[in-house]
Amino acid sequence: MDLGLDARQEETRAIAAELAADLLAPAAARFDRDGGAPTDHLKALGARGLLGINVDPRWGGRGAGVVAYVAAVRELAAACAGTTVGMMVTNMVAEAIQRFGDDAQRDRYLRPITAGEWPAAAFSLSEPGSGSDAASLRTTATRDGDHYVLDGTKAWVTSGGFAGVYLVTARTDPEQRSRGISAFLVEPGTPGFEVARPEEKLGQHASPTCQLVFDGCRVPAASRLGPEGVGFKIAMSSLDGGRVGVSAQAIGIATAAAACAARHLADQMQHIEADNADRQRELADCAIEIDAGWLLCLRAAALKDAGKPLIREAAMSKLFCTDMAHRVCERALRILGPDGISGAHPVERHLRDVRVTRIYEGTNEVQRIVIAREVLRAMARQA
Ligand SMILES: Cc1cc2nc3c(=O)[nH]c(=O)nc-3n(C[C@H](O)[C@H](O)[C@H](O)COP(=O)(O)OP(=O)(O)OC[C@H]3O[C@@H](n4cnc5c(N)ncnc54)[C@H](O)[C@@H]3O)c2cc1C
Repeated sequence: MDLGLDARQEETRAIAAELAADLLAPAAARFDRDGGAPTDHLKALGARGLLGINVDPRWGGRGAGVVAYVAAVRELAAACAGTTVGMMVTNMVAEAIQRFGDDAQRDRYLRPITAGEWPAAAFSLSEPGSGSDAASLRTTATRDGDHYVLDGTKAWVTSGGFAGVYLVTARTDPEQRSRGISAFLVEPGTPGFEVARPEEKLGQHASPTCQLVFDGCRVPAASRLGPEGVGFKIAMSSLDGGRVGVSAQAIGIATAAAACAARHLADQMQHIEADNADRQRELADCAIEIDAGWLLCLRAAALKDAGKPLIREAAMSKLFCTDMAHRVCERALRILGPDGISGAHPVERHLRDVRVTRIYEGTNEVQRIVIAREVLRAMARQA
């Protein structure tokens, strides 16, 4: 197995590293303090092909694949995790439109996403009272001639308020559970569709997260993504890929925190005569765990690139990398001492930013359930 990046993947990573250094890193502390939507930065990522990394060039994407995607996410997240999650969700929605949409939908939505005309696309599955158990969602889409009428409330929508298109799941058949759910592409400004104000949250302040309210919102039947009843499948397959992206995001945050701690330790070792063996051990543990996470992430990304199943590997990667990144940020704080929590170093931001990676794209408790189910299924197949 070749663990290096090929020329196309390396080109994508290098573009991300350049934009991370020039645009995202200088603004990260400001967004963390003041909030707001990094729409210009996201458009700049789009203009360089980073909002459709795994989208076919025929639709304006880079066509560079999933390994290239995680390499880019890692670079961007090390600079600003909040801006990066907007980029990640946009890539996820673009891939869903490419895979499940028809040519009219691809033409209408993929081109403005991949050209950076729109800052983002949004993915709206969760609802107040329906997150981990997504199949219990209550938003309805009722057929009315050549339209559907959407009614309900969606929660925690990343890039809500400035996305160019929203992938929204709603129940088209109340008699069925997951098979009664369909997906729709809803455009901002559609009457009956409103975005509530952003939620206040612990970290990732460069990523507004909003509620959406649908009240008699009529959308053309042609805006349905895929056939009726496959919306849950669309959402779940998107989340498998999404979990690989969250792994890379967590690794990026961990890499930035560990680098900060390493610089601090190296500086102290030059100037202060003290026993720092403990802190060197902490640094070693950070380096080992970051590399272990990257291997899990690369394996899941390579499986997706090869078109192979990745449910188990994506869940393992997401669970390990996000827990690991939390541990690394904690260790970085210990190495820095009081400086770590003072705001003099970005590590306190990294620690707040990393927490939510254990929640979205399926909480880590749910990932354990997914992994156990897949392990038991594999055993039953062998028996
Ligand atoms: C910043 C942020 C951005 C987000 N962006 C999006 C987005 O763009 N689009 C979108 O659709 N959603 C988004 N989400 C929603 C996110 O996916 C959900 O919050 C997540 O799936 C958890 O669902 P919940 O909030 O309903 O928590 P719940 O499902 O109520 O879970 C609460 C707690 O119970 C635990 N739990 C639940 N079920 C089980 C179980 N069976 N066994 C053991 N423990 C269990 C969970 O692990 C969790 O700790 C976002 C969330 C956040 C915080």
